[in-house]
Amino acid sequence: MLHVRAKERMQSGELPTYAPSSSYAGRGSTITCALCDAPILPTDVELELEFVAQGADRKVIRLHSRCESVWNEERLRLHNRP
Ligand SMILES: [Zn+2]
Repeated sequence: MLHVRAKERMQSGELPTYAPSSSYAGRGSTITCALCDAPILPTDVELELEFVAQGADRKVIRLHSRCESVWNEERLRLHNRP
């Protein structure tokens, strides 16, 4: 399930837990999605998120638009935890 995977990947550090500095939406370039590991097909919307953490390298992840929503949801849930 994608929600569980999003949580796991944030815990392992594969996916960031903070908001991107910028994001671009475009047609899928068949690159592998950072969440579901399926290729983002030209018929899908691909989101390219750019993260610039302080003292860290620039990081770019690419996700299906639907996977970005799942990641975003889980990310916000993580921050809202008491
Ligand atoms: Zn995906």
